[in-house]
Amino acid sequence: MLRELTEDEQQFRLEVAGWMQANVPPHLRHTTFRPLPQDCMPWFRQLYQRGWIAPHWPRAFGGMAATPVQEVIMMEEMARAGAPDIPGQGLNHIGPILIKCGTPAQQARHLPAILSGEAVWCQGYSEPGSGSDLASLRTRAVIDDDDLVISGHKIWTTWGHHADWMFALVRTSDGAARQHGITFVLIDLKTPGISRRPIRTIAGDDEFCEVFLDSVRVPMHNVIGEIDRGWAVATALLSEERLRIGSPALALKALERLRRMVRALPPDPRNDEALAQAEMDAETLTASFLALAEAEHKGGTADSSYLKILATETVQSILDLLQQVAGEAAPLRAAAPSEHGLLDYSEMFLQSRRLSIYGGTNEVQRNLIAAKVLGLPPMAGAPARRRE
Ligand SMILES: Cc1cc2nc3c(=O)[nH]c(=O)nc-3n(C[C@H](O)[C@H](O)[C@H](O)COP(=O)(O)OP(=O)(O)OC[C@H]3O[C@@H](n4cnc5c(N)ncnc54)[C@H](O)[C@@H]3O)c2cc1C
Repeated sequence: MLRELTEDEQQFRLEVAGWMQANVPPHLRHTTFRPLPQDCMPWFRQLYQRGWIAPHWPRAFGGMAATPVQEVIMMEEMARAGAPDIPGQGLNHIGPILIKCGTPAQQARHLPAILSGEAVWCQGYSEPGSGSDLASLRTRAVIDDDDLVISGHKIWTTWGHHADWMFALVRTSDGAARQHGITFVLIDLKTPGISRRPIRTIAGDDEFCEVFLDSVRVPMHNVIGEIDRGWAVATALLSEERLRIGSPALALKALERLRRMVRALPPDPRNDEALAQAEMDAETLTASFLALAEAEHKGGTADSSYLKILATETVQSILDLLQQVAGEAAPLRAAAPSEHGLLDYSEMFLQSRRLSIYGGTNEVQRNLIAAKVLGLPPMAGAPARRRE
């Protein structure tokens, strides 16, 4: 981070760096893939016990109320120490939305379990044929006494096959506007009628799955907000999701990989140049994230579409540089041990292809910027609203 740190911030960096060095499990350091729950959740709980699992949550709900600078310090030190990825749908998506829109009973029921890792969450928005055009979703819920009875098919559900709960969008009525009639609901994945099928990605991980719902009964008190009026909750969550995807965490991780690769190869000025470019790109992203996160911290609204595009394209360009530096070894699939730690030639590169798709594709984010920031009219023939 190019910003000058206060004494307290420098002290915080030392504390985080020391703790990460001592506590990140050696066998999980610098691994590309998110570890499976049996490896990942003990690390999640270590962070929870240290009080660092939710830097961005308010203290009243068990978070750290960290400043954006403290958040970036944590990301930098976690990248340096090679801390493994943890599931983020609870901490970054549904948690902040429950804090904003949940009832006190919903908050008391779910927030402590999200923080402790007792409940892992997934996001049930996308369906076959309803990704960018989210309002076309067809999973249907019928009201029966005090229950919703839900049937449908969700897809690309990250960690859905490992999750305990899913927050989902379901259609409860058909209005003139397609955004009307959608309800936001929390589903306990142990409920009868649910089956899940993992999907393997190009990178070789089983990160997401399909979720099939067949007459699944969900109590009405699991609805967030009002019946038929879930779209506002859904889009508030998407904006929060984009801000989190827009953090420099992944770019810093990619940069760390490039640094290691350059150190492991014979000296070459072209590699130094590639590393310098990547360092500058990561700094640009960090500065943009800080500016937007600080604006939001002060009660403003961040343009999360811009940040989502910048962050995901920065990661992809750093990993393009990594491939360039790796030279003829670039196609090697598996990471290889070296005296500089694991050398990842292509795993993270392949994994990063997905970044410009999830959380709303970058093309759709550009449409949002055109409409909301620049005030341009929609393109002739384009569907009226997509993931807004
Ligand atoms: C790794 C990964 C994890 C995911 N995790 C989840 C999850 O946990 N939960 C969940 O609900 N979903 C998840 N998704 C789904 C993701 O949100 C969708 O893939 C995404 O919104 C795009 O939808 P789609 O795949 O149906 O593509 P489509 O909407 O069919 O888009 C196909 C192509 O057309 C372009 N396009 C579509 N509409 C427009 C337009 N109006 N203007 C210009 N271009 C357009 C898109 O940019 C894209 O290139 C995940 C996806 C990935 C890749």
